[in-house]
Formats: sequence, C-alpha cells, structure tokens
Amino acid sequence: MTKTRIVLIALLFFLGIAFTVATGGLALLLILPVVGILLCIWVYKDAKARGEEAVLWLIVVLITNVVGLIIWLVVRPEKEIRRKKESDEETEFCPNCGFEVALESNFCPKCGEKLNPPD
Ligand SMILES: [Zn+2]
Repeated sequence: MTKTRIVLIALLFFLGIAFTVATGGLALLLILPVVGILLCIWVYKDAKARGEEAVLWLIVVLITNVVGLIIWLVVRPEKEIRRKKESDEETEFCPNCGFEVALESNFCPKCGEKLNPPD
C-alpha cells in the first residue's frame, strides 16, 4: 500500500463521518419543528375538548415543547368524570364559560355566572 493510498482512504473515512454528522444534524433540525408543531396541535385540540384555555396551552407548548406537554398531561381535567356526571344527573352548560353545571345550580361553580334566575 502506498502512502498516498492510505491518505486517500483516511480522507474518505473522515469525509464519511463528516457527511453522517451533517445529514444527521439536518434531519434533527427538520424533524424537531415538525414534532413541536404536532405537539402544539394535539394539546390545543385536547385542551379545547376538555373545556380548557386552548390558546393558552398552545402558547405554553409552543415555547416549552415537551415540558409543556408533560405539564398539560398532569393538570388536564379527566374526560371520564364529565361523562359519568352526565349520565348521573341532568346538566346544562354555563352560557358564560361553557362549564357543565347541574341543572338545579343557581351559579356556575367555575366563573360564578348566575344561572336559572328564580322569577
Ligand atoms: Zn361559567
């Protein structure tokens, strides 16, 4: 093996590593924003479905990404409890905030809006 040949192989070897690192870095740069946007959309829809401040959560996840997602998963209200309530008693929705309230309630427990004013 000549000296030039060894130098050439070494050069190609390092070029290969540099190429892998460069493309891997590019792939990460492309994938991360896509994942971030998908997270934002999912949290936004999930928050809306659960009657929470969807826009607020969208901003939180937009800034903090996975950390915001974890916070949302911890603090989000359970859907199952709401469904159980529906079948157990008659309910209506607060005209002010959309919170589900028992039909006999006079005030919304979430925002304090007056409901069913007794005439
Ligand atoms: Zn309300």
